[in-house]
Amino acid sequence: MRFILIVFIGLLSGLVQAQQLEITPLTTNFYVYTTKKVMDDEVVPSNSMYLVTNEGVVLFDTPWDSTQLQPLLDTIMARHNKKVVMSISTHYHADRTEGLTYLASKGIKTYSYLKTYELGKLKDEELAEHIIYSDTTFKIGNYTFETFYPGAGHTPDNIVVWFPLQKVLYGGCFVKSTKTPSIGYIGDASMSSWKRSVKKVEKKYKHPEYIIPGHYSWESTKSLKYTKKLIRKYNRSNKL
Ligand SMILES: [Zn+2]
Repeated sequence: MRFILIVFIGLLSGLVQAQQLEITPLTTNFYVYTTKKVMDDEVVPSNSMYLVTNEGVVLFDTPWDSTQLQPLLDTIMARHNKKVVMSISTHYHADRTEGLTYLASKGIKTYSYLKTYELGKLKDEELAEHIIYSDTTFKIGNYTFETFYPGAGHTPDNIVVWFPLQKVLYGGCFVKSTKTPSIGYIGDASMSSWKRSVKKVEKKYKHPEYIIPGHYSWESTKSLKYTKKLIRKYNRSNKL
């Protein structure tokens, strides 16, 4: 039994190692990068994104698997010949903030909303060095994007990022992939506000061409609608 178990763990870790960091081009200069962790015997992928501007690379969230931090920075340098200059974390959970201290030590400007900073501090997660105090439009090199806090959802502090020209909506864990069967981890969620918050995003950012959820596939642009469906389903079966 022990032998079988060792072989199995060996196979599993081999499998995880084989695809520890996946980088997928989204549209010109936008890349989704995915790292994985084993949760309850299941390999769970986590999506983050980076944008290549003419003033350096911006990370939207950090690798969940912090062993992939330096490989990510090295790969970005090798592929684009550019340094990472900035990161923005979209809520305080580890799949968005793991490695922030390391990034800051490399001279990268790390950002989060104030609420993310406060919750991260309370829950002993890694913290960004710079605070975003309200919804903000950033101009980095030749790109413009806005950060938006729609209200509580997956967590009390979750934000989304919108790229108006490219119509990319970076949703993080506030948005559920259409390939996710359930609402997922809701230990810190606000099930009574989440749907209203999603509606605000739908109203504000019309006709996105890409929506990136925190986990699993981003192939559909129906994931905001699907997120509302999962919330309704959960609330109905729990009589909320
Ligand atoms: Zn998440």
